[in-house]
Amino acid sequence: MNLLFIGPPGAGKGTQAGRVADRLGIPHISTGDMFRQHASNGTELGRRVDVIMKAGDYVPDEITVAMLAERIAEPDADGGFILDGFPRTLVQVEALDGLIGTDGLDAVIVFDVDVDELTSRLLARGRADDSEDTIRNRFDVYQSQTAPLLDIYGERGVVSRVNGLGELNDVTNRILDSLGQVRDAKDSAEPRARS
Ligand code: AMP
Repeated sequence: MNLLFIGPPGAGKGTQAGRVADRLGIPHISTGDMFRQHASNGTELGRRVDVIMKAGDYVPDEITVAMLAERIAEPDADGGFILDGFPRTLVQVEALDGLIGTDGLDAVIVFDVDVDELTSRLLARGRADDSEDTIRNRFDVYQSQTAPLLDIYGERGVVSRVNGLGELNDVTNRILDSLGQVRDAKDSAEPRARS
């Protein structure tokens, strides 16, 4: 199963993507984690993206797409994957369509979380790229660049909104429940030939 988790920064999507990936036995692919790994390894790419991440801006599409394309070509992604934090721009949506097809995602889980709650979560997390200015910028960038992606996936009929607040386990179960619903809805809407 190929899944995409989308949500504003601090919505808990990374944590939940990890938990759901474990439950489903598929890899959790986070471009943010991959960039942070490069930054902490001090690679050339890492030095370049470190500045961008600290400002709360997006890494250029060509860099991000090339890194993601390489990752999903690895054998552990053959049986499906959870994308967390990619795609984030229209160019990245098109690139992903080119890699897995426009019907390549089985479900897009969208996290609904209150903005005040998000801000306090982010400040409490205390990551290096989580200063107050950066947080504000990351929300703005999410609203302008990433929120429009929801319309595209909405039209494809694969979006499922999940309330991201509450106990970790409850949220995980809500996601697993909604995956069942999305899969059922998709199966009944588009019956496939059986051999
Ligand atoms: P995340 O952990 O997903 O919030 O990502 C942390 C940071 O990595 C973002 O604020 C961006 O600077 C960068 N990043 C992660 N994924 C992408 C992406 N798909 N496109 C552009 N930049 C990204």
